[in-house]
Amino acid sequence: MQTSAPSDHDELRDALRALCQEFPSDYHREHASKDIYPEDFINALTRDGWLAAMIPEEYGGSGLGLTEASIVMEEINRSGGNAGHCHGQMYNMGTLLRHGSEEQKRAYLPGIASGDLRLQSMAVTEPTTGTDTTKLKTTAMRKGDRYIVNGQKVWISRIQHSDLMILLARTTPLPEVKRKSEGMSIFIVDLKDALGNGMEISPIKNMVGHETNEVFFDNLEIPAENLIGEEGKGFRYILDGLNAERTLIAAECIGDGYWFLERATQYANERIVFDRPIGQNQGVQFPLAKAYVNVEAANLMRFEACRRFDAGEACGAQANMAKLLAADASWEAANACLQTHGGFGFAEEYDIERKFKETRLYQVAPISTNLILSYVAEHILGLPRSF
Ligand SMILES: Cc1cc2nc3c(=O)[nH]c(=O)nc-3n(C[C@H](O)[C@H](O)[C@H](O)COP(=O)(O)OP(=O)(O)OC[C@H]3O[C@@H](n4cnc5c(N)ncnc54)[C@H](O)[C@@H]3O)c2cc1C
Repeated sequence: MQTSAPSDHDELRDALRALCQEFPSDYHREHASKDIYPEDFINALTRDGWLAAMIPEEYGGSGLGLTEASIVMEEINRSGGNAGHCHGQMYNMGTLLRHGSEEQKRAYLPGIASGDLRLQSMAVTEPTTGTDTTKLKTTAMRKGDRYIVNGQKVWISRIQHSDLMILLARTTPLPEVKRKSEGMSIFIVDLKDALGNGMEISPIKNMVGHETNEVFFDNLEIPAENLIGEEGKGFRYILDGLNAERTLIAAECIGDGYWFLERATQYANERIVFDRPIGQNQGVQFPLAKAYVNVEAANLMRFEACRRFDAGEACGAQANMAKLLAADASWEAANACLQTHGGFGFAEEYDIERKFKETRLYQVAPISTNLILSYVAEHILGLPRSF
């Protein structure tokens, strides 16, 4: 399928496609239907260094830009896989890279680059406060050379396949800070030490077979040296990482969008009903053509967000818009693909119902579409803050 993607990454795409072909649809289908983490696939991506794309060479990574990293995510989803099982490893390290001390970077980044250490988890969301992050209730109180953590998180992904987790917790009570965004801090949690010693998890079975958990902290002790950056500035540090996260998720949606359109056009050309291919009917063609137009438009915004990010320019607007456009376009393509397949779209062996559910997630996580629209309204259009 022809796309508007620049052609100067063909070699990168070819290498990824070769790897992804070793894990065909039935591999992903089987793992998803049994809720099993696709360990071999993620190990292969790690072994070949793809998930360390954005770690600078001096710390053992490939030192590539967001453009290339986004192509990795796109190709995983375009091949029929689900980058949601590993995208954390690609972007969580950015927080450490930007705000960690040199000692922390030397301690963790080379291991993350080689895949010996997995930093796949980030714990922000809480059950009672949701998107209203600054009201989060998990606390980390300094006591000598340690912080003591109490509270609860929800939807914290990939803990079972991670060695380290970034935790956002309040270190100064809300009534004592001037601005509600102040007084929160981020920490590196060594999961091996924490689990069973003040941190418990309970998996949440969910629609997309995503490995995700409720997390409970009961006097978890974290060494003070695991604080990243300055105490009290953690919320800003998390926000700093969001542009990369939004853009990488946009690329996953674009990969999904092309996957749905490739499947749908192939089926529409082959399926004969009323003595002609169903794709000859405009009622079948137009939803696919419209979805294609929207995936292509989203793709342009995604590459513009990448270009700005890699050039060190402000890209908050483009990253958010790319995420919204791409999530909407992949969802539109998913619907058109399912409809094109008629009843067969519901059969597990066609993979469409699986990918349909997987791409639906991106209307909600890691940020819901409403919250992106609020960002655009307030920060780009200059309308009053709505919450
Ligand atoms: C599979 C999965 C994996 C996840 N992984 C992680 C993870 O690893 N780490 C992590 O920290 N979190 C994770 N999350 C959480 C995710 O980021 C949140 O679910 C998401 O940000 C939405 O928050 P919420 O679920 O609390 O919804 P809520 O904040 O309760 O919102 C519910 C609905 O109300 C809407 N809404 C709320 N306020 C407004 C408003 N002011 N204006 C308009 N609409 C509004 C929202 O758009 C949403 O549709 C994951 C979630 C899922 C489902």
